[in-house]
Amino acid sequence: MAMDSLEEYVISMRRYFHENPELSFQESNTIKTIKSELEKMGLEAHEVKDGGVYADIHGQEGGKSVALRADMDGLPIMEGTELPFKSKNHGVMHACGHDAHVAMLLGVAKKAIGMKSSFMGKIRLLFQVAEERPPGGAVNLIKAGALKGIDYILGQHVISSFEAGSVATYAREAMANADEFRVKIMGRGGHGSAPHETVDALVVAAEFVTTAQTIVSRMIDPFLPSVVTFGTFNSGFRYNVIAPTAELTGTVRTFHRDVQDKIRKELENLLKHLCQAYGVEYQYEYSEGYPTVLNTPEITAVVDEVASEHLGKKNVHHPNPSMGGEDFAYYLREVPGSFYFLGVGNEKKGITSPQHSPTYTVDEAALSKGVDILLDSAIRLLSMK
Ligand code: MN
Repeated sequence: MAMDSLEEYVISMRRYFHENPELSFQESNTIKTIKSELEKMGLEAHEVKDGGVYADIHGQEGGKSVALRADMDGLPIMEGTELPFKSKNHGVMHACGHDAHVAMLLGVAKKAIGMKSSFMGKIRLLFQVAEERPPGGAVNLIKAGALKGIDYILGQHVISSFEAGSVATYAREAMANADEFRVKIMGRGGHGSAPHETVDALVVAAEFVTTAQTIVSRMIDPFLPSVVTFGTFNSGFRYNVIAPTAELTGTVRTFHRDVQDKIRKELENLLKHLCQAYGVEYQYEYSEGYPTVLNTPEITAVVDEVASEHLGKKNVHHPNPSMGGEDFAYYLREVPGSFYFLGVGNEKKGITSPQHSPTYTVDEAALSKGVDILLDSAIRLLSMK
């Protein structure tokens, strides 16, 4: 199938960004390139410090205002692909497909400008920095007024676990609330042969990790999804020395405020009483990460309708929400909208590596579909009552 020039443009931009990835809050070249592309199209680009760039496309008088968001940061991952346009920035890689997000939104801009007379209202393009690193760039764009006067917002994210030519949409919850906790247990070290003269922090920490598993299994309504994961456990320094301290970190994933509050409270409750029982001190820090990505069913229905027209109804999936996190959540607290996934996997082409892996890549054949679905959904929302 021959490629049209818009498709060629999107693919060439994606390859450029892929080759030149930048870490969160350091996307200066990416921003410069986006601004210059927007200006070449005759658009006025507004830059927001630690937020990104936005620009407006005005259709005919009247209609609604719809924002479309693309994030732009890479990850601290050493690229392991053999692509001719693999990362030139050592140790940094577009392993979550944000290169494709920027390229597709530039494609949307180009196409929308060409059909300005056929829609009413305003399309605002949001190019956002630092999705991968809390507190994220979304909050800064919002603070700078990038959502002022906006009626609806859409976020399209590529995902390799769905095949190119399909999308996955969510009527309500799309992604989880992702929090972080840090625990330090302070006992009293000593000789490994004389435990009675010490207070073993490692044993208390081990018991805490095990006991904390009962929060989800015994204290939370089984119909309300939640995860408690310990990611690190650091304690001790020698085989025959009793560890004086133990440090643990972990993450809590939830979809509901009351579940989040309950887990936060019960973690400390267990920790406090265990430490009391064994006579050790503790520190407990809990930081809230990105909130739940909560879509509006009526907006998702519009995406479903448009995607069905482009891909066929059977290729529009409605999976369970993901337990991952996304700072798109902050936009959805301000205006109704929908966050959905565009399939970019392709088993036949061997494109199967998961998001954030060193061999991650996308099937570029899916990108022009992404442009069409995003733009046509936006246009349909512009005339929504
Ligand atoms: Mn991502």
